[in-house]
Amino acid sequence: MSKILIVEDEAEIAELEKDYLELSGFEVEIENDGEKGLKKALSEDFDLYILDLMLPGADGFEICTKIRDKKDVPILMVSAKKDDIDKIRGLGLGADDYITKPFSPSELVARVKAHLSRYERIAGRDVEKNDIIEIRGLKIDKTARRVWVNEEEKMLTTKEFDLLTFLAEHPNHVFTKEELFSRIWEMELVGDIATVTVHIKKIREKIETNKAKPQYIETIWGVGYRFKV
Ligand code: CA
Repeated sequence: MSKILIVEDEAEIAELEKDYLELSGFEVEIENDGEKGLKKALSEDFDLYILDLMLPGADGFEICTKIRDKKDVPILMVSAKKDDIDKIRGLGLGADDYITKPFSPSELVARVKAHLSRYERIAGRDVEKNDIIEIRGLKIDKTARRVWVNEEEKMLTTKEFDLLTFLAEHPNHVFTKEELFSRIWEMELVGDIATVTVHIKKIREKIETNKAKPQYIETIWGVGYRFKV
């Protein structure tokens, strides 16, 4: 259920907005004071904010700017004056919509719904995007935990994948076997640094065309390994 915060000093208007939004299935909280509203807005999580412009304490301009600094959820500004709406649009405070009083509560509900579904669509798109590393024909999909070399998928074990990904994320950085062992195997008591050597060998067998001349993971004699850039 989406949670909405209304900051509005006219109690009747705030209650009316709340009633309509609750009827549409939203969870709604009200603050009548700007200062308190700002505090609540920043300290708690809401999915959308409805801010009146003229408020005792902090005004709608200030609250909007401060919320936008920290959060990217929709903000609807409400004002009694058409002129103010033009002014706040011009200021580019980062509000998503502006409504002039008096407005019909169903109009408000419709706009709230539109902004929430738009926001969810955008947020959802971000989640769907996989985290991918691509270097000279080697492609590592961190989200799906899959690896390809020149479009051909390679099957890596969990630790092989973790080790390869760690090295690829730190290209041109030489790691000792001890460092790699403690990073990848963490607190596991099984195995020792020879495990690292074995895994590097296995990874090379899977991703290198010529194991004698590895083009991805380089051995730095007497030190450790480095992912070539
Ligand atoms: Ca007011």
